[in-house]
Amino acid sequence: MKILFVEDDTSFANALLISLRARGNEVKHVSTGKSAIVAFANAKFDVVILDLGLSDMDGTEVLKAIRSKANTPVLVLSARMGEVSKVEALDLGADDYVTKPFGFGEFLARLRAAHRRGSPGPINQILKIGELQFNLAQKEITSQAKPTPKLTPTEWSLLEVLALENSRIVPREELLRRVWGEAFINEYDYLRVYVSQLRRKLEVDPAEPAYLLTEPGIGYRLIAEVVG
Ligand code: CA
Repeated sequence: MKILFVEDDTSFANALLISLRARGNEVKHVSTGKSAIVAFANAKFDVVILDLGLSDMDGTEVLKAIRSKANTPVLVLSARMGEVSKVEALDLGADDYVTKPFGFGEFLARLRAAHRRGSPGPINQILKIGELQFNLAQKEITSQAKPTPKLTPTEWSLLEVLALENSRIVPREELLRRVWGEAFINEYDYLRVYVSQLRRKLEVDPAEPAYLLTEPGIGYRLIAEVVG
């Protein structure tokens, strides 16, 4: 990935830079908001990692400047606690938000997810779930045996988000945000309803799910085979 990394804390930045570069990423590091805006205007990046607490301006100003130009995924870093700045950053178009301190493994997973969401076009994947094959790009289901179910756009969207995370547990709030939007992150009932609808369509026994699994109190994950 080609990454623009905006962070004024030198020792923190250096540690993260070493780890990111060691994994083959091409990283441009800048330490001010002003230089971030200039760098973003002069090159194309796959993803931006943006610290909110910068010395010359608020990181949200950088986020606004980026969003006025492009839909490049932005992963916000912050030492700030509390929901206000988080919601503010997401409202301004951040794709995800990580509060310092964080584990590098989790950070990398979020970075990859942000990058994938920024990839243009529908995802080109064929999933096999039991007897059914789901073509995510064509929104088509094929089946050898039983009658082929039909999914609504929201069900397709939910399936796609879970499929993109490839058997990782996706927290409820993240699913709500990615499928419905930021305003819905507490609407757990939406998820319960849609998960049970999806289960009725893709599980052999919806009461004993084998593919769309609940992680109690956390979220859901999809166990599917990628066949194309
Ligand atoms: Ca900082």
